[in-house]
Amino acid sequence: MSKLMKEYIEEAEKDLLHTYNRYQIVLDHGNGVHLYDTDEKEYLDFAAGIAVFALGYRNKKYNDALKDQIDKLIHTSNYYYNVPAIDAAKKFKKASGMDRVFFTNSGAEAIEGAIKTAKKYAFLKDGKKDHEIIAMDHSFHGRTYGALSVTGNPKYREAFEPMIGNIRFAKMNDIESVKANITDKTCAIIFETVQGEGGIYPAEITFIKEVEKLCRQKDILLILDEIQCGMGRSGKMFAFEHYGVKPDIVTSAKALGCGVPVGAFAMTEKVGAHSLCAGDHGSTYGGNPLACRAVSTVFDLFSEMGILGNVNKLTPYLEGKLDALKDEFPVITKRRGLGFMQGLEFSKPVGPVINKALEKGLIIINAGTNILRFVPPLVITKDDIDKMYAILSECIKETY
Ligand SMILES: *Cc1c(COP(=O)(O)O)cnc(C)c1O
Repeated sequence: MSKLMKEYIEEAEKDLLHTYNRYQIVLDHGNGVHLYDTDEKEYLDFAAGIAVFALGYRNKKYNDALKDQIDKLIHTSNYYYNVPAIDAAKKFKKASGMDRVFFTNSGAEAIEGAIKTAKKYAFLKDGKKDHEIIAMDHSFHGRTYGALSVTGNPKYREAFEPMIGNIRFAKMNDIESVKANITDKTCAIIFETVQGEGGIYPAEITFIKEVEKLCRQKDILLILDEIQCGMGRSGKMFAFEHYGVKPDIVTSAKALGCGVPVGAFAMTEKVGAHSLCAGDHGSTYGGNPLACRAVSTVFDLFSEMGILGNVNKLTPYLEGKLDALKDEFPVITKRRGLGFMQGLEFSKPVGPVINKALEKGLIIINAGTNILRFVPPLVITKDDIDKMYAILSECIKETY
């Protein structure tokens, strides 16, 4: 590491709050599926800024659209309409099958909005204030209070109790545990269609269909968190499309703006017409012209570049390579995933492999202590997968 990079890291450690154990590199610029640190060392990126930069770095059309918007108008507030938000909402609705959209600045805020929507929907039905939400073990929905309250990792919650209350945790893919938690106060069931941070656990089809059925029977709202698995990562725009189910509320963020901070929660007309109304919710930045221009451009580029086609074409190849790693190394016990959202479960912590991969120019992340997570930009090629495989197998060989 150069003296300059070392100095940057020392400065960062002096000034930034110590909420992350960062990897010891300072990233400076990107191009396609590659990132470069301040020493000009190249990395093949299989993390995409945590499933964010789906289009790859330095996409000219994306960058030009943002530059154009910067010169036009960056912010107006929600007291007025703006064209990028109108375009983005139309495209989001078309892609998700939802009817009404609210743009936020992050994933956690999209979850907050979804929770408030569900509570208001139930409140308007019976005027009660003690409605319950069922969430899942191993879930991750974000770090703000509402989102943290439905996050299934007690370690993240402990120091910050009490949470918002009336949250029950069921087991993902265990319909009996969901049934056991339903009461006459249940207003919503929330889960990630494919659990991300918790270890890459896709919903099983029987589970998600049963949950949908229960929700319909009891007028409980089904909230699917597609912040990580949505926006094409699974091979469909939204992962729930694989299952033939339809949520009442869907949340999005991460790849939605491909790097510009933006999220969304969206709902069916039925929920939209009987929940949040003027004065119930808001955000100064939410849905601002710059963020929405990013969203609108991302949707355009997804079709122009045939992003879904690439994911679907290469998923079997990626899965094949990951299975080959599993067959080669007994330390790898399982592969799970959907599309370009894959996990390899190890019988040992994966931290040392991640560090070794960085040394060899591959950026990869974990999902829990023992699981390697593969969430590359959606534009990777067969050649990139081969390179990843070559570097990773060396790293695993040298580590365990
Ligand atoms: C990342 C993530 C969130 C939180 O999003 P932020 O933008 O970090 O607030 C919520 N749910 C899921 C499934 C996520 O992956």
